[in-house]
Amino acid sequence: MIMIGPPGSGKSMLAKRLPTILPDLSFEEAIEVTKVFSIAGSLNKDEMLIAVRPFRSPHHTISDAGLVGGGQTPRPGEISLAHLGVLFLDELPEFKKNALEALRQPLEDGTITITRSSVTASFPAKFMLVAAMNPCPCGYFGDRVHTCRCSPQQIRQYQSKISGPLLDRIDLHIEVPSVKYRALSDKELGESSATIRDRVNKARDLQTKRFGHKGILCNARMTEKQIRNFCPIDEESHKLIEMAMEKLGLSARAVNRILKLSRTIADLENKKDIEPAHIAEAIQYRSLDRSLI
Ligand SMILES: [Zn+2]
Repeated sequence: MIMIGPPGSGKSMLAKRLPTILPDLSFEEAIEVTKVFSIAGSLNKDEMLIAVRPFRSPHHTISDAGLVGGGQTPRPGEISLAHLGVLFLDELPEFKKNALEALRQPLEDGTITITRSSVTASFPAKFMLVAAMNPCPCGYFGDRVHTCRCSPQQIRQYQSKISGPLLDRIDLHIEVPSVKYRALSDKELGESSATIRDRVNKARDLQTKRFGHKGILCNARMTEKQIRNFCPIDEESHKLIEMAMEKLGLSARAVNRILKLSRTIADLENKKDIEPAHIAEAIQYRSLDRSLI
């Protein structure tokens, strides 16, 4: 997921609250997480088992090796410490280009392989990438209250720091507008984390039943063949996807990701079939595939 919005719109706060609606960590998952922390030497002495999903938020000055793993004796980086949890990258365009590009392969495969002259090591890296960025260098492009001071060229340059191939691997592009204090303090808005988490856990149960014997845990990990099996869509949905491909110039990879996401949206609604509304919602989360300016 990538959130784009002006400073103070609550992007970091939203990211930090995300773990409160993530599905519970199963015992097998807890063992996997604990193993990575143990190898990285990051396990506290009195900690036997890590029972909550990790949330990692490295600063943008982090080295490539720190982010994806590396060193003479290869050690897991932040992407592996975020395995089965969240990797939050605030101010995404500020990260080094190399580091961002190095995320592409693990985002696709869920593992990272580090090769040194003497040794090759693979670490798991099935993390949920949550990124945040301002829309422009000053932060207020498109804002209703503040005026943006950036030139179109500056804005283009800033946004182009996020490469197309990286964006292609991000399913949810979310615009976060600035929020007035009143809206923030209004307790009647929205659902509680507990209610949402309940729905998430139910959707995850459906997915465990669907894939239980296939070695994967959730829709995001479906192979192309599994997408064909588990994401059949009707004629109207096909037309929506064709239209989106034409208008947004979506890649085949992006279409597969839209199908997976539609399956998840349907699961959250406890619907057996993917409906055109689910496809439309998934497409609408790809707003950055169109140029913003
Ligand atoms: Zn600006």
